Amino acid sequence: TGELTSLPDIEPARLKFIKNTDPRPPPPSSSLVFGQVFTDHMLTIPWSANSGWDAPKIQPYGPLQLDPSCTVFHYAQTLFEGMKAYRDKNGKVTMFRPDMNMKRMNVSAQRLALPTFNGDALLELIKELIRVDKHWIPQEPGYSLYIRPTLIGTQRAIGVGPPNEALLFVICSPVGPYYPQGFKPIALYGTTEYIRAAPGGTGGYKLGANYAPGVVPQKIAAKKGYAQNLWLHGPEHYLTEVGTMNLFVVFKKDNGYIELVTAPLDGMILPGVTRDSVLALAREHISGKSKLTDLPDNLVVSERPVTMGEVKAAADKGQLVELFGTGTAAIISPVDRIGYLGGDVHIPTDPDGMGPVSRVLWKELVGRQLGTIPSEWSVTV
Ligand code: PMP
Repeated sequence: TGELTSLPDIEPARLKFIKNTDPRPPPPSSSLVFGQVFTDHMLTIPWSANSGWDAPKIQPYGPLQLDPSCTVFHYAQTLFEGMKAYRDKNGKVTMFRPDMNMKRMNVSAQRLALPTFNGDALLELIKELIRVDKHWIPQEPGYSLYIRPTLIGTQRAIGVGPPNEALLFVICSPVGPYYPQGFKPIALYGTTEYIRAAPGGTGGYKLGANYAPGVVPQKIAAKKGYAQNLWLHGPEHYLTEVGTMNLFVVFKKDNGYIELVTAPLDGMILPGVTRDSVLALAREHISGKSKLTDLPDNLVVSERPVTMGEVKAAADKGQLVELFGTGTAAIISPVDRIGYLGGDVHIPTDPDGMGPVSRVLWKELVGRQLGTIPSEWSVTV
């Protein structure tokens, strides 16, 4: 909840439902392209500095009416989340750790001087929206409903400051598997001429402003034949993130240990839900709390900076086991090559496109997302 505790917070009991009287049939799952189709309804909740959060509304999906002076259009007062709902063969709908997204959204809101809110209340309303459009969730394995909560500043005035009006909305899009034909490792362009984030900057928050400047570097990487940017930081060329995913590297150490490494949350790294889940699974395996078959027994986990020099040296010595990205959209995205300073660093992948650690983690994550492996992370809608 925000500082203005006397003003109303988001209140699910005040929900107004305006039914879409012209619903469309969901398209066949096989035709889905990520983020192109939206369900029949959306959730909207306006906020104002004088009266707090207004009554939430589930209403037909459609255009918003906003003044051209609204601050979102000029000063990028916009932040968002990305999460998924899954429907199993019996029709049961679940979400994966949605509380993490609600927390992260509030942290982003605070950073932008946009209003914060009760995350449990918003989640309850999102669940209601999903239930209303439940028939839009594809049931085929690997398919899901992508949920996009967004918060924008809507003050009708030109001028940079905390907006006196804001709008929270949630839209939903049925999506297919990221890798319909099995895992396909990607090539990354080790990007040194552009940055995604900087110390003291906003890379650690899920703000719209972090994404628009990434499009040109992405186009340049694509033109050079690489799928994504590998964002490198500083003269040491620290590995930070992959496109819009967190990054993991697996090293074989001199002492025989297998080290699973990701960059620390130093403000330049988005605290990914998938990242946190990978770390938690690996640590539970190591502590013996929940052993994962097929994960090495001599695994260690580190959140520490990794340089391109270290990755290159490990690759040369045959001590680079694998490298992969993690995120809600692709879950795990194996990498087989990094273009770096004019050369290519090659990363081993197995015939199935994955590596020995990512293969196990992927299976364990998907199991918990779909509910085939019982877990507290799976939340019934
Ligand atoms: N980094 C960035 C920059 C992202 O946009 C995302 C996607 N939200 C991630 C990492 C992965 O986060 P998550 O696992 O929560 O999807």
